[in-house]
Amino acid sequence: MLLVLIASCNSKNYIQTTASSNSPATSIPQDFMYQYSIMDALQAGVYDGNLTFGELKKKGDFGIGTFNALDGEMIMLDDNVYKMRHDGTISIVPDKDSTPLAFVKFFKADTVFTITGNNLNYADVQKIISNALNQNELYAIRLKGSFATMRGRSVISPKRPYPELADHIKNGGQQNFNFTNITGTCVGFLMPSYMARTNVPGYHVHFISDDHTAGGHIFDFSTNKLEVEIDHIKGYVVELNTHADFDRTDFSKDRQKEIKKIE
Ligand SMILES: [Zn+2]
Repeated sequence: MLLVLIASCNSKNYIQTTASSNSPATSIPQDFMYQYSIMDALQAGVYDGNLTFGELKKKGDFGIGTFNALDGEMIMLDDNVYKMRHDGTISIVPDKDSTPLAFVKFFKADTVFTITGNNLNYADVQKIISNALNQNELYAIRLKGSFATMRGRSVISPKRPYPELADHIKNGGQQNFNFTNITGTCVGFLMPSYMARTNVPGYHVHFISDDHTAGGHIFDFSTNKLEVEIDHIKGYVVELNTHADFDRTDFSKDRQKEIKKIE
């Protein structure tokens, strides 16, 4: 296992590399994001991992990701992990299940504001939030409100041999949804462009309804009012996926053009 620790913003930057046994990292520095595996691996078709949700909960109480065999969209909120599958079911995930990719943090808002407007869409909201933030910093974002429309998807679990994510999505590997007049919470992150390949540059947000009956990865929405909570992230810890598929993957291929289409 390789543990890479990179501190950003005003503190001095450093990289710490340790070789160790199979045990996962046990402590995450305060106000840091923790991520298991990297986005590029998911794009390459690494859909299985060895980190349990029980372990993931020690790294944060808020976040997004997916499940082994790419079986749905994950949202972590208020200490629970929810699995939002393509068939529309939402369930609380047992701690023994594992993830191939997850981004989490202990969420503590340091900026809170309300956005109001007439029929604001996702792009409008992104622009308003980005104007209040620095484009080179990392942020965890929670949005609460009521949505006239909410459009998104959940991935459909593929069979082995796994296709790359872009091919899977192109060949019908996602179920789109369209909800109307729904209230709920959006959980996600805003990442700078330099986080490409490791994470998803820009906004990456998942939704779950207040009654926990609807949700998934967000494409677009419309709303008149949103409560916005921002948690500035000081840096991040990346734990590499220890599944054998990860070491077999060719990371020399540039998959960045595909990410805009699928995330
Ligand atoms: Zn997603």
